[in-house]
Order: sequence, then structure tokens, then C-alpha cells
Amino acid sequence: MIRTTADVTFLRGYNQALVMAVGRTVRTFERSTIVNATGLTPQAVSKVIARLVADGLIRSAGVRRPGIGKPAVVYELVPDSRYAIGAHVARRTLRLVLVDLAGTVHHSAVRPLPSDFTPAQLLDALKSGIDAITGIDGLRDRLTGLGIGMIGPLDHENGLVRDAHGLRHWHDVPLREIAEAHLGLPVHLDKEVTAGITAEAWRHGGKFGDAALIMIESGIGGGFWLGGAAHRGAHTNAGEFGHTVVDLDGPLCVCGRHGCLEIVHSHAAEAGDIPRAARVLAVGVVNLLQTLDLAHVVLAGADLLRHAEVYLAAVEKAVHADVRRADWLTTDVTLSSLGADVMAAGAAMQVLDEHYGIPGLAQLQPHA
Ligand SMILES: [Zn+2]
Repeated sequence: MIRTTADVTFLRGYNQALVMAVGRTVRTFERSTIVNATGLTPQAVSKVIARLVADGLIRSAGVRRPGIGKPAVVYELVPDSRYAIGAHVARRTLRLVLVDLAGTVHHSAVRPLPSDFTPAQLLDALKSGIDAITGIDGLRDRLTGLGIGMIGPLDHENGLVRDAHGLRHWHDVPLREIAEAHLGLPVHLDKEVTAGITAEAWRHGGKFGDAALIMIESGIGGGFWLGGAAHRGAHTNAGEFGHTVVDLDGPLCVCGRHGCLEIVHSHAAEAGDIPRAARVLAVGVVNLLQTLDLAHVVLAGADLLRHAEVYLAAVEKAVHADVRRADWLTTDVTLSSLGADVMAAGAAMQVLDEHYGIPGLAQLQPHA
């Protein structure tokens, strides 16, 4: 095997990410915890630990003295050593959160966006919002970057907003590039629903199985966590769940088809019939379960959370009662554990993952 510098750098980053993943999963750990969990040699782990301590990402939390054998240094993650800012861009609002290395949300603020806002208007709103958050002393130095969870369709790989539904000025906008230039920060761009499901996966850790986050907030979207990682699809266009048809002769949708889940739902919601709107959503969720066989369904989005109990009850009923499922087919239905912040928080966690983690490593189960 030919070793290039790039390989060595990658391996160093990879080993570091393995240790960070353990640090995030358990409250405290020792060198042997990492050795057992990762299969790295004790020497390699010592090197990585020394580097992470020097960078301030982890610190010693005392010494454990076993009955027999040598005392062992105990380490812990330093949550406030690094932060990321997450943004959730909806059609009328911009939500910004500050998230630390352990995934705790420290600050959350929502500001209105002009109707049919332009890229320049969004950049200005991002800049003033971020300046307000980083006004806290010294925070800027510890800021890893900005994650943007945005309305799709968008090209995650290339950081390009394709044609955001309902926004006229967003055709093939290289948002990641222009935001990096405007804000002077590394930027990660993803669909808001994919960011949202990433936050749920962070919070649930290794036990989180295949899951969907269903969001109602200026439209209906779905974010997917499949096989231990976010699922974006062949064109990073997965998640257009609101544009699956539930009524062949239904009303015309913005996407040009008739009877999409989103338009049928919004007719009921706009008529004030929230129980019916919730039942419409529940039909869509059950269709999804029949297709993907999911362990968790997470309900999110500001428009859904305003009537959280109605939606939760309707979806739970449809999942557990309307569908005749064998009792070995269990799916838990919950509201988002981070409320309306989940999309923005997930966008920030994606930035932290990109710098200090390995996608999919949340599944790691270290030995205690
Ligand atoms: Zn549609």
C-alpha cells in the first residue's frame, strides 16, 4: 500500500473522530475505554488523547484507582471548547441556535424574513444574527462554522439551492459559497429536515434505529435516518414527502400534481379543521412506514407543534390501531425532543460532525 500524506492526515483525523465519538457517547472515559470500543492500539490512543487535550477538546477529570493494577486517568469532553451555529431557513423566518460540542443548545432566536426574500436579504439576516450571538466574549474563536438547514430542493453535495419551493429568487443559488464569503465562516448546507433528523440521532445515540422526522412548517417534509446515517438520496432530493399523492382527484398542488399530501393537508388546516389535517398527515406517515419499516417517527415543525397533541394522537392512532400490524412491528411516535429548534440545532451538529466526528459513528457502543 502506498501511503500518501493525505492518507496519514485522514487516519489521524479518523482516529481523533473515533475518540471524540466515544467522548460524546459516555460521560467519562479512560484510555482502555477507547481501546475496547475502537480496536486502536493503546499507543495510538495515547497519541490521540494527548493531541485532543492539547487542543482543549477533552480534559482530565481525575484518576481512577482500581483495587489491582495501575491508576487510570479519566477523561471527559470539554463541551464549551467548540461551538457551531445552526440556522433554519423557513419561508418567513430565520431561526438561529448556538450549539456546543456536546450538542447542548445554548441560545435560540427567531427573526422574521421579508416575504419572498432574496439571497442578499438572507445573508444580511444571517450576518446580524450571528454577530448578535458571537457578541459573547471570545466565542468567535471557538466557532467551528455555520450549518444552514434550508427549504429544498437543494444540492447538498455542491451547496446549491435548486429551486426552493415558494421562493422566486432561489434558482441555482450557490448558497454555501456566497455565505462562506459573506460571513467568513465554514458553511454546511442541507435540507432542514435532514438536519432535523441528525439532531434526533445525536440525542438518541447508539439506540436510534431507522427513523423519519416529519416536519410541518411552511409545507410538509420528511428527513430520514437509515442504516445509521442521514439518507439524502441519489440527487440529495429525498424528503419531498409532502409531494406524495394521497388523493388522485385532489386539489392542484404548487408542484403541478393533484392531491399531494401537502395541499390536501393545508386545505384542512386552513379551514381550521386541525383534527382532519392531522388525520391526513397520519395517512402519509403510515404510507411511509409501509414503505420503509421505521423504528421511530419524530414529529416536528412550528406549524405542527402549535397543535402538537392533536397531531401526536392522530399519528399514534394510525400507526398503532388503524394499521393491523403484528405486535413485533413496533414504531414509536414522539414529538421532537428539541421542539422548534430541532432543524437549526441539527444543522449546527452537522458542522460539528464534519469537523470532529465521522458520519454514522453515532452507532458506536463503547464498553463501559
Ligand atoms: Zn405537490
